Amino acid sequence: MTTQSEQAPRPRRAPPEPQPEGVPELCDVEQHLLTPAAPAIGRVVESRVCTKSSKAAGFVRHIAIDISGTDLAGRFRAGQSFGVIPPGLTDKGKSHKLRLYSIASPTRGEDGQGHVLATTVKRTIDEHWDDHTLLLGVASNFLCDLQIGDEVTITGPAGKRFVLPKDPALHDYIFFATGTGIAPFRSMLLELLEGPDGPCPSGVTLVMGAPYATDLLYHDELTALSEKHPNFTYLTAISRERQDDVDRRLYVQGRLETHTEHFQPVLSSERTLVYVCGIAGMELGVFKGLAALLDPEGLAQYLRGEPELLADTSAWERKMIPRALRPTKRVMLEVY
Ligand SMILES: Cc1cc2nc3c(=O)[nH]c(=O)nc-3n(C[C@H](O)[C@H](O)[C@H](O)COP(=O)(O)OP(=O)(O)OC[C@H]3O[C@@H](n4cnc5c(N)ncnc54)[C@H](O)[C@@H]3O)c2cc1C
Repeated sequence: MTTQSEQAPRPRRAPPEPQPEGVPELCDVEQHLLTPAAPAIGRVVESRVCTKSSKAAGFVRHIAIDISGTDLAGRFRAGQSFGVIPPGLTDKGKSHKLRLYSIASPTRGEDGQGHVLATTVKRTIDEHWDDHTLLLGVASNFLCDLQIGDEVTITGPAGKRFVLPKDPALHDYIFFATGTGIAPFRSMLLELLEGPDGPCPSGVTLVMGAPYATDLLYHDELTALSEKHPNFTYLTAISRERQDDVDRRLYVQGRLETHTEHFQPVLSSERTLVYVCGIAGMELGVFKGLAALLDPEGLAQYLRGEPELLADTSAWERKMIPRALRPTKRVMLEVY
């Protein structure tokens, strides 16, 4: 028998790292009001393609679901996700697990009352590993196939970190999105700019990345918002064809280079928060872009790590996030 004093000491949790000025107090959220054990039924009220004709493979739909009468109604916040439990069984005879989808609607929902939420779904289309036959992702294709009036089993809301601050006017925002990563930013932009109490005066910059210009999601809606609100800057980054304004291909972080005069003062301000949502791996490119633009003190507002590592971005790998490359609390990441 070993006494407590003889046992190996438990590894201590690292003390919380000192954070820069300007860390936000995030808004209060509720979570898991609907669980997989006790989900609810929503009903599709809208389903439309939210790309123009696409050169790249991939179909993305804006799907709105009436959740009135459920515990989710009026109780989600901009930036949160909800769960979808697809019907049917897996090939092992078990119920399908839930998949998360970002809410693309502001807190007041699509209907102004939080009773209709929308999301932005990309059909997952792939090949099976073993026999190379066509694989259609279960939940995304289920959602995209739904017709108006069809039922969806839902859970949520989920997420407490990828949300806006309690007092949004205390901060300015830089949003980096790729693909369906635009969903929570549509939600936040409508919350910040089109709320019932009038537009929030904060500066908001969105960089939306897509392979081809025809793949840009909600492009007309976002363009209209930027024309209406001078405090909202909407930039696109097209990675597989030349962008007219710069005559080259761009990933989202490329906009930090082409618009240095815009980003440098914004990133140097203590008010600024950086949000990144979309394809897993994009955060590394964004961090490298920040490192190229900012001096060590400026970078430390967003990213911490050993000085030698921070100074040599060529050594950076995605697996270094979040231990060796540690985003500060002024950075919100949601990549999948
Ligand atoms: C916080 C969060 C928010 C999200 N928000 C959104 C959103 O707003 N919009 C959105 O479209 N997605 C979103 N997602 C992703 C979403 O949850 C699903 O992961 C996505 O839709 C794919 O689910 P699926 O059921 O269609 O695919 P699945 O059936 O789960 O397949 C997933 C992947 O596994 C691979 N796979 C599975 N089985 C095999 C096999 N036998 N052989 C080869 N490959 C296989 C497939 O290629 C596929 O890429 C989010 C994820 C998270 C974590």
